[in-house]
Amino acid sequence: MTGFLENSAPLDTQWRSIILLGNNVASYKFSLGTALLKLGTEKSTISLEELSLPFAQTICNHLKTHEKQITSTSSKFLDACRKFNNEELTLDQLKEETLKRGFANVIDAFHNVHRSEVSRFFTDTRKENQSITLTDNLFHLIQSDQHQNLIREVGSRWNLWETAISIGISPHLLEIQHDPASELLYIIKDNIERVDVTSCKDSLNGYQKGKCFYCDRYITILNGNEFSCDVDHFFPHVLSNFGFKGINQIWNLVLACQNCNRGVGGKFEQLPHISFLTKLNNRNNFYIESHHPLRETIINQTGSNPEQRRSFLQKRYDEALSIFPGKEKWTPKEQMHKHE
Ligand SMILES: [Zn+2]
Repeated sequence: MTGFLENSAPLDTQWRSIILLGNNVASYKFSLGTALLKLGTEKSTISLEELSLPFAQTICNHLKTHEKQITSTSSKFLDACRKFNNEELTLDQLKEETLKRGFANVIDAFHNVHRSEVSRFFTDTRKENQSITLTDNLFHLIQSDQHQNLIREVGSRWNLWETAISIGISPHLLEIQHDPASELLYIIKDNIERVDVTSCKDSLNGYQKGKCFYCDRYITILNGNEFSCDVDHFFPHVLSNFGFKGINQIWNLVLACQNCNRGVGGKFEQLPHISFLTKLNNRNNFYIESHHPLRETIINQTGSNPEQRRSFLQKRYDEALSIFPGKEKWTPKEQMHKHE
């Protein structure tokens, strides 16, 4: 297997790939990442003892504001952090618990991104002297003008990850396009792995109220019956073969009945008629206006005000048209009467 990132990629890009794309076990990568970025540059050997409180306290602070979102994660270490927040553990006890359990997976797995390894920001020297050894790569990051941005990004990514977990959807669906002009910098590599789009059925159904996005026929998010719905890519998945970005992002996903999505006359790889573009825009705006947990994600993916979002979708439609010129655009065979 080839590496996801060339080792010659800029250091901040490699760092971002760890934070944005790496598999996170109970979000420990976010807290270790934050702790590392906040270290000074005086020395390279950092004992686990020194690292334990910055690492654990980042988690404790996060738990204070996101307690509800991660209660489902069963972890003795997280329990210890919660107890510390409730003043049932002292600082020394928190340190002890962290040394015992906190680093179990994260030090090993920190540099793994999609089953390959990026350049190292520290090496594991636990066997030698219960420490990690920082590499020049980390010092370069700490001294770069990106330093404060990187700290903020870890926090944003952590929030996003928890939003996804809290509403039961795959964190991959919340990925955000890289936007050098914005404060928040995210990188995204489309289709590195097959993304589980079905995980967002519950969230999407909240807006569609049990009706197909295209024809308004009754649908259910339960599997295995004739009304079971599919998650449909409004801009069809095939476009990603032509460089169309963001196919799996939440703004592009809708629920469709089986008649519309499959079957004779089904949508398959076709572009929906432009009349549905307004409906998609309304749907995305609904999430924003209703302060749904997906609000921030959709704003980040499509624009911060209604005009930007409208023009974002129009540009994407124009882009899709340029890839599929002249083809007749898809509409459902029959349209149920609307009862709205
Ligand atoms: Zn339908």
